[in-house]
Amino acid sequence: MIKLQNNTWQHQLRDAFKSIPELCDYLELNTIDIGSIQAQQNFPLRVPKSFVENMEKGNPNDPLLKQVLPINAELQTVAGFSDDPVGDLNAMTETGVIHKYHGRALLINTGSCAIHCRYCFRRNFPYNDYQLSKQKQQNALAYLQNHHEIKEVILSGGDPLLLSDNKLAELISAFNQIPHLKRIRIHSRLPIVLPARINKGLIDALTQSNKQIIMVVHCNHANELSYEVSEVCQMMQLAGIKLLNQSVLLKDINDNVVELCRLSERLFEIGVMPYYLHLLDKAQGTAHFEVSRAEALSLMEQVRARLSGYLVPKLVQEEAGANGKTVVF
Ligand SMILES: *Cc1c(COP(=O)(O)O)cnc(C)c1O
Ligand code: SF4
Repeated sequence: MIKLQNNTWQHQLRDAFKSIPELCDYLELNTIDIGSIQAQQNFPLRVPKSFVENMEKGNPNDPLLKQVLPINAELQTVAGFSDDPVGDLNAMTETGVIHKYHGRALLINTGSCAIHCRYCFRRNFPYNDYQLSKQKQQNALAYLQNHHEIKEVILSGGDPLLLSDNKLAELISAFNQIPHLKRIRIHSRLPIVLPARINKGLIDALTQSNKQIIMVVHCNHANELSYEVSEVCQMMQLAGIKLLNQSVLLKDINDNVVELCRLSERLFEIGVMPYYLHLLDKAQGTAHFEVSRAEALSLMEQVRARLSGYLVPKLVQEEAGANGKTVVF
């Protein structure tokens, strides 16, 4: 019993690695050579142990480690990279709703994440404390109610699954009152990085809905898909939740044909459809993750030649001011 209690997702979240020496120690790596204390001043290291378990000990080039370990390259200022490459941040904090694309709107409830991905544009906005106030939530719901063209509400963040089951149930029940909403989409990295979050309480909260539920997970590499992850994906499928994946194309992490194919195959095996492969958002401090458009196109041609069509994600790019993602391939 006691073991079970100490192993709740909230405990696991609290016990996430937050220090470079501690993480490097655990992975039997030499701290001095790799991690950078300075690079994590604005955007601290944060990685749940369940994600670390999928890393290879003693390998400084592990594709999962590279996603989360602060390094000196982040400190370089590179032309063409900015602090708000997708131009979302003002809209986000003022109303809690981002309605840029026809038919769907994002609802931002929390700014925090269980993991800090070094390539993310959020790195430059440590808005971890952002919470939708009661008033803003009312306004956001009224907005959805008044815009009949919105068929789908997307819970995004940060990571919406960091909200409590009760809070999610409250939102779902509010959405149930809005007849023109057909679908609720959740964008979360938790099924991958903290699978313990997908528990019965959550499934119960989600399945109270009379709408279709879509979960878009965020997995960049097949090594992230542990047995535990496959189990929670199965749980969600059994509950009628449709599972999609989005990835980011990342240099020296997944920018090769073998790994991209392996990722799609493995995702499908556990019931997740490849959806998007994003070109990097050009946020300051992420230039070392960039894969050029030409290279990305060439990779996609090769992936397309090897995989069944439905296993090939769409290569997309987000452009500030556009009314949808730009499909590159
Ligand atoms: C990505 C995004 C969506 C969802 O786009 P889909 O192409 O439907 O996945 C919706 N709104 C905003 C603002 C987005 O950035
Ligand atoms: S928003 Fe997603 S990609 Fe960015 S840090 Fe959070 S979990 Fe990672």
